[in-house]
Amino acid sequence: MSAYTDDESTYTDDESTYTDDESDQEIDLTVPKCPHARKRPSPKTYGQMITVVVGKGKRQRSFQVYEGLLTYWSSYFRAALSPAWKEANSNIIELPEDSAKVFEAFFHWLFTERLEREGTSLSSRLICKLYVFSDARGIPELGNAAIDLLFQKTASDWIFPAEDIGYIYRNTRSASGLRKFIQDDSVCIDWAESMEEGEKYPPAEFFADILARVSQGTLVIPSFERRPTDEEHIENLRKKLCEYHEHPDTSADTERSRSASVTESEE
Ligand SMILES: [Zn+2]
Repeated sequence: MSAYTDDESTYTDDESTYTDDESDQEIDLTVPKCPHARKRPSPKTYGQMITVVVGKGKRQRSFQVYEGLLTYWSSYFRAALSPAWKEANSNIIELPEDSAKVFEAFFHWLFTERLEREGTSLSSRLICKLYVFSDARGIPELGNAAIDLLFQKTASDWIFPAEDIGYIYRNTRSASGLRKFIQDDSVCIDWAESMEEGEKYPPAEFFADILARVSQGTLVIPSFERRPTDEEHIENLRKKLCEYHEHPDTSADTERSRSASVTESEE
């Protein structure tokens, strides 16, 4: 399956590719099931309730969460709830530096495996914050869910989250899947046009990463004439979602070769 078609007719009217009029065709925004996703823990292992106090001052909130859910998904909570820790601290964990809003989405995900409640919508920034929280608290599956949701959000809204790039670069490691996703999502952006509209430039490190990947051949920036349509671009990202995931106990190379949804490798 090629990302680019030689059919000139799809590129003749450059206006039409960015309007809704022409996008009546169904775009598949479903997220392929991650072949490395772990099963939910059995309710038999939930155990007792733990109080997690998140944030400080007026924004502080307390959440009652099953110990077994926290320790199953999170290496941080596994360590924090180890017997040695519990002896000294009853059953309360305090996270003063974390955001209650972020924890609330994590809390919802713990019980439903979904980040958004019915009828609510998380902003792209909050999704990025969830990713950062997942990294700090050792919850890779939560980070993967954040990537998947960010994909769905940017694809369904036709919006590239340029304003979140600075936040992402300040708060993630260089090998982060979120950085790679945002780099891949950016290849069809007309930077000159978006800067004219007064948007802030992403950090220089972002462009340096793009340049490094282009020179390594791991990222292709199509020329204007060969730029994929929005639909093709979205489909390319959708097929590669697993490449942005973190899969515990597997090396990056075996992940890619085993990933059923990826038909061609970029690396
Ligand atoms: Zn995956």
